[in-house]
Amino acid sequence: MRTWGRLGVVVPSVPSLKAGDVTFPWDIIPHGLKMAPSHALRCCKRALNWVPVLFINLVVGWSYYAYVVELCVFFSFLSTVSYLVIFHIFFFMFTWSYWKTICSRPSGPSKAFCLPRAEKELYEREERAEAQQEILKKVARNLPVYTRTAGGAIRYCHSCQVIKPDRCHHCSTCEMCVLKMDHHCPWVNNCVGFSNYKYFVLFLAYASLYCVVICATVIQYFIKFWTKQLPDTHAKFHILFLFFVAALFFISILSLLSYHLWLVGKNRTTIEAFRAPVFANGPDKNGFSLGFSRNVAEVFGDRAKYWIFPVFSSLGDGHSFLTRLVHIDPEQAKSVLQQNGKRLVFMYLFI
Ligand SMILES: [Zn+2]
Ligand SMILES: [Zn+2]
Repeated sequence: MRTWGRLGVVVPSVPSLKAGDVTFPWDIIPHGLKMAPSHALRCCKRALNWVPVLFINLVVGWSYYAYVVELCVFFSFLSTVSYLVIFHIFFFMFTWSYWKTICSRPSGPSKAFCLPRAEKELYEREERAEAQQEILKKVARNLPVYTRTAGGAIRYCHSCQVIKPDRCHHCSTCEMCVLKMDHHCPWVNNCVGFSNYKYFVLFLAYASLYCVVICATVIQYFIKFWTKQLPDTHAKFHILFLFFVAALFFISILSLLSYHLWLVGKNRTTIEAFRAPVFANGPDKNGFSLGFSRNVAEVFGDRAKYWIFPVFSSLGDGHSFLTRLVHIDPEQAKSVLQQNGKRLVFMYLFI
């Protein structure tokens, strides 16, 4: 059994356009000025991408102020220390996992997935798609790549110029191929994938718990608000909105959390849930499923003491994955596919 070590992570560069073939009037404009509009637009787009993150942080900041300052300190509603301790534990875990999700750089394919120089030149010179596929197939033979396009071709990213590892997809927002890409999340302004999926699930879990803590401790004062038993100060409006906002966030986050916990149990990404990965024997939505406990370990790791903390403990290197249905004869694969995951046949990719 051959094992693949942790492969180095590189961020593929987007190829620049060939200049100089055609002369346009704007070519006489100095280079800096010519690039300015597109550069300015990109900067604006990047700045705008942070608006949802800013919004979340403002809401969280306000919730902290309303709970700790207005309710606990000024109004002395929740004067017990235990409330404050519980609140701060969940607030800390929530913000920790949230910022880890935001700050974790998405992992891209290693250099091993780039075409060697000779093959790359051949590929670029070749105009026939079939011949290009033959070049890709030859290179992919030495790589742990078992998924194909819907048409059965080797998955190749023309922007990053890499053969896509299994479960890797190109993100147009991040402008790179992302290992085990789940989705691009505007609320964290980052791609959720192999490098931060555990943090993302924990962020959803702690966000839900944070809302639960707020709702559970504020509800008694929320009821008093409607029965007009609260002193007439501005703090009562904080109570009203705090409960409403926490309840609304809880409902929306809980549905997302439930969905991602289901995905973790099935060892599926959001992309794979919508479009089953295609193997040599055809599409199989359960192709990467290894059984519930192993699926959970793939994301959270095999050491339980790290599960609840947003520290990296996922298994594997993001480039290659255990699967079933590989190296099985077509008839056998067909019968396994028909049973739809009831009978697992594990075939190690590492031979
Ligand atoms: Zn790409
Ligand atoms: Zn992205």
